[in-house]
Amino acid sequence: MIYLHIPFCKSFCLYCDFYSEICNGFEAEYPRAVLREIDKREKEIANNVSASALAGADTLYIGGGTPSVLPLDALRTIVDRLGKIRGPKAYDEFTVEVNPEDIVGKGIDYVRGLKALGANRISMGVQSFDDSMLRWMNRRHDSAGAVKAFDLLRNGGFDNISIDLIFGISHLTDEMWASTIEKAIALGPEHISAYQLSIEEGSGLAKLVKRGKYSEAPEEDCARQYSMLCQKLSEAGFNHYEISNFAKPDYEARHNSAYWSRIPYVGLGPGAHSFSAGERQIRSWNRDNLRDYIDGKDVREEEILTGEDLEIEAVMLALRTSRGSDNLTDLCPPEKIHEALQRGDLVRTPSGNLRIPESRFFISDSIISSLI
Ligand code: SF4
Repeated sequence: MIYLHIPFCKSFCLYCDFYSEICNGFEAEYPRAVLREIDKREKEIANNVSASALAGADTLYIGGGTPSVLPLDALRTIVDRLGKIRGPKAYDEFTVEVNPEDIVGKGIDYVRGLKALGANRISMGVQSFDDSMLRWMNRRHDSAGAVKAFDLLRNGGFDNISIDLIFGISHLTDEMWASTIEKAIALGPEHISAYQLSIEEGSGLAKLVKRGKYSEAPEEDCARQYSMLCQKLSEAGFNHYEISNFAKPDYEARHNSAYWSRIPYVGLGPGAHSFSAGERQIRSWNRDNLRDYIDGKDVREEEILTGEDLEIEAVMLALRTSRGSDNLTDLCPPEKIHEALQRGDLVRTPSGNLRIPESRFFISDSIISSLI
């Protein structure tokens, strides 16, 4: 289970705090730096590939930043190098994140090139089908561009496409949000991720808030928009399998589901995190410093996790899913669980797990913190 971070964007979106740099010419040097990291961590990658294949999570996820700003040759160099470690077998799931304007700008040959690379899943940052909202977010595409990009991806052979949407913006009306959900459904994606806008320190939005130019949407508006989303996507045949994720049957994201199940992963590139579960359970990460990474300086840091840390994390992640948790009882006193069941904050799944019902997913953070 490998994550490759591509830390470049052509411009910054208002809400975003992911680690990324404006394209500055470093992109040309980036593949060489990633190859250097792969060489250094070859044994760890080989061990991880065997372990994650056994766990049913033989996946590669190229995310960002904006992977689609890199030329295909750059991506191919890295994917081919990983292929030398793992062998010729295709990944169970190989996702590339793209932005609509790159797909439209680069066209069908680029899409076919991604296919030829071995990618079998695309995650596209659409965010909204309302042009005024897209401009406010400082996205580079418009609604028509998102539709065009989606068609190009389909025509280029991708039969597993996920799109991202954002709700809970203070000037997003219910009508605008309903229209965005309906347009998303009409495209026919296999997967939709929808996130409530949050104000992240360091984002352009946080600066607007400090200057008094934006204030958060009221909680009841966000809850209502989340509920509209759940209802419309359920009617359209999507399974709500994690708080922010909806999939047509058999199209749940394997890579992300494996994160939630705490399967070990290797993260490559500045800002990427890794988790290994050998004799010691270690979480490590590359510092957010592209210059140092390209210069070959040591940017790796790590922490050793205790069994309890891991158990708490695993239960918290599991409670965000429709599958729920099978070991909440190890961490939470029986009377608390009983009360949560009485209140309807928890229900039992047919397999006996404890889960938060969909109708209370929106307040899951407070339910989880009351339990653990
Ligand atoms: S949302 Fe994506 S494209 Fe926009 S700044 Fe963040 S990483 Fe870049």
